[in-house]
Amino acid sequence: MSDPVVTELAEKCHGAVEGESSLASLTTLRVGGPARVLVTAAQDEDLAAVGEVCRRRGLPWAVIGRGSNLLVADAGWPGVAIVLGRGYRGLDMDGQRLRVGAAEPLPSLAVRIADAGYRGFAWACSVPGTIGGAVRMNAGAHGADLRDHLVEAELFRLGTGTRELWPASTLGLAYRSSELPTDAVVVAATLELDRGDPAEERAAIARIRAWRRAHQPLNEPNCGSVFTNPPGDSAGRLIDAAGCKGLRVGGAEVSHRHANFIVTRPGATATDVATVIERVVAAVAAEAGVTLHPEVRRLGAVVADHDLPTTWSRQDGAAGSP
Ligand SMILES: Cc1cc2nc3c(=O)[nH]c(=O)nc-3n(C[C@H](O)[C@H](O)[C@H](O)COP(=O)(O)OP(=O)(O)OC[C@H]3O[C@@H](n4cnc5c(N)ncnc54)[C@H](O)[C@@H]3O)c2cc1C
Repeated sequence: MSDPVVTELAEKCHGAVEGESSLASLTTLRVGGPARVLVTAAQDEDLAAVGEVCRRRGLPWAVIGRGSNLLVADAGWPGVAIVLGRGYRGLDMDGQRLRVGAAEPLPSLAVRIADAGYRGFAWACSVPGTIGGAVRMNAGAHGADLRDHLVEAELFRLGTGTRELWPASTLGLAYRSSELPTDAVVVAATLELDRGDPAEERAAIARIRAWRRAHQPLNEPNCGSVFTNPPGDSAGRLIDAAGCKGLRVGGAEVSHRHANFIVTRPGATATDVATVIERVVAAVAAEAGVTLHPEVRRLGAVVADHDLPTTWSRQDGAAGSP
């Protein structure tokens, strides 16, 4: 029997609406189950429809960018997962101000911005997420983060069905985190950048890419750094010192190349990844007395049968329910 939520959203949305749609293929870890409903939002009307239907039916929602920082539960997501479609891409440059659609991927955006003669955004070439995900996570690398350039973000509120303009100072941006409302979908962001030399910026991008290729397991599925760095130290160093490189559960393993990366093999499950995370947290706590905090966000109940590390909250920041 067809799912009435799929039927209702398919009638109301301009973008694609699919039932029981795999989310593993939408994430860089490549694990996890399906979403009850996956909506590719073509325009704000679609987001408004998702918000209204979820509120009325008591369903949770979640936004997925490039899935480059997401661990989706094996049981999947019991509500509506939203991906922003092509209508949420685009780059408009006006002097030092650049308005970017939230679905723009950072790596190609960094190159376009460098070529257009702006400086300081080369770091984003190595972060394989969207601008929307980067605002939510305050993504950053090589000594910079989005907070350095963000002027304001346009948020679509699923709770009210309205688009709002939020100055960067009100978003609670901190190290790999923000305090966006749980019903906020970032739909666009305005950056401010100084003018620079395209050749220098392209050279910086080439250097960053070469460094990443040399130091990170980029040819295996992963989600980037699994843990945030504790103050004054590096999670990778602590994990290596605790002897966890190569620690393996099922198809998930702590990378030999970079200890703060977990890589997955075909057949790996979200439970494998979550169990590796738990064991790393326990090993580093025992070895160094330091509590590591996962940077990767969970979607759904990742480990149903046993306790999660207390450092990893059950509530995904971008998942909301009425
Ligand atoms: C190889 C590799 C290297 C990486 N290197 C870095 C790095 O150097 N620095 C760094 O900071 N990160 C890094 N990451 C992690 C990841 O790329 C960033 O966290 C990125 O910002 C996530 O963006 P995303 O679009 O993929 O978001 P997702 O992973 O899809 O989602 C992450 C969170 O953001 C929310 N979200 C996504 N889109 C929106 C939106 N439009 N509105 C509201 N909420 C949204 C999701 O609900 C979720 O809570 C790396 C990942 C990989 C795989």
